[in-house]
Amino acid sequence: MKKHNFSAGPCILPQEVFQKSAEAILDFNGIGLSLLEISHRSKDFVAVMDEARAIIKRLMMLGDDYEVLYLGGGASLQFAMVPFNLMKSGNGKAAYLDTGTWAAGAIKEAKKFGTVDVVGSSKSEKYSYIPRDYKVDSTYDYFHCTSNNTIYGTQMKEFPQVDTLMVCDMSSDIFSRVIDFSEFDLIYAGAQKNMGPAGVTLVVVKKSILGKTGRDIPSILDYQNHIDKESMYNTPPVFPVYATLLTLQHLENNGGIAAAEERNEAKAKLLYDEIERNTLFDTFCVKEDRSLMNVSFQLLDETKKETFDSAWKAAGISGLNGHRSLGGYRASLYNALPIESVQVLVDVMKSL
Ligand SMILES: *Cc1c(COP(=O)(O)O)cnc(C)c1O
Repeated sequence: MKKHNFSAGPCILPQEVFQKSAEAILDFNGIGLSLLEISHRSKDFVAVMDEARAIIKRLMMLGDDYEVLYLGGGASLQFAMVPFNLMKSGNGKAAYLDTGTWAAGAIKEAKKFGTVDVVGSSKSEKYSYIPRDYKVDSTYDYFHCTSNNTIYGTQMKEFPQVDTLMVCDMSSDIFSRVIDFSEFDLIYAGAQKNMGPAGVTLVVVKKSILGKTGRDIPSILDYQNHIDKESMYNTPPVFPVYATLLTLQHLENNGGIAAAEERNEAKAKLLYDEIERNTLFDTFCVKEDRSLMNVSFQLLDETKKETFDSAWKAAGISGLNGHRSLGGYRASLYNALPIESVQVLVDVMKSL
């Protein structure tokens, strides 16, 4: 039986993506070769890369002033690549919003390149809310925020107006809701949360912001170099790029981001309504900052833990344990998770 997969990442993808990517591994496009054994410079794969880059611009409604890259190294590599490419050499200074473990990871790396001012942090309150009321002026090289906090289950519902470049780690909620992508100068996202399998990271960057740091950047870490080589400076992660393309085509063919947002809101409402109704459960965060993607919650009566754990496992649910740093439970409601799976979880919660 196929499980109800609430995993936080790598995570559920559309069934069609599993089927089509399996076919491509056996015989890609009917060419008599596997996707895994052809050159990344072959015409069949170049077409995949071209379309994988083009579909991002269509979905984000961005023009030619932006470039789309598919890179290795995970979102974690971007924690270092962003300051390397954007922080001025010598007297560089950036503003960061500290909203969780991943944001803190980005801050840690940026400090190796220059001054980092944490303009807002909810760390002392266990990251249970998104800080507001901060200003970022033009003395900063850029501002960095994390749109969705995968572990703590909080999400930025709106983005601040800042007087500098806007950089965002959108790893865990990219393409889950309608946002104005043109407000951002650089967006990155590890594919494995909402976009594809592990192994590739999406970077969308406004071309005009590059080349201003005075730093000598190693080629493999230089966005401009990857742009010049059309995301083929070195061998790209061909399979993750292909599976990501299939996932994005699935999204585009099923009503696009707006329709996905509607489905995601319905799923999140179903679960949060039960958490609010059921006195045995509570979230870890304040209501206005609750994430539509990762619902982190706790069971208030520890004596029911065994019963709850065996009930959801018996119902075919997988991946519900909370992150080790927070405990409790986490239901990740990524685009590909059907509402029927959420209903199964809610039924188990009701039965407790
Ligand atoms: C998972 C995650 C990361 C880390 O991604 P890797 O691809 O494993 O490096 C970074 N930021 C956020 C918001 C994440 O959810």
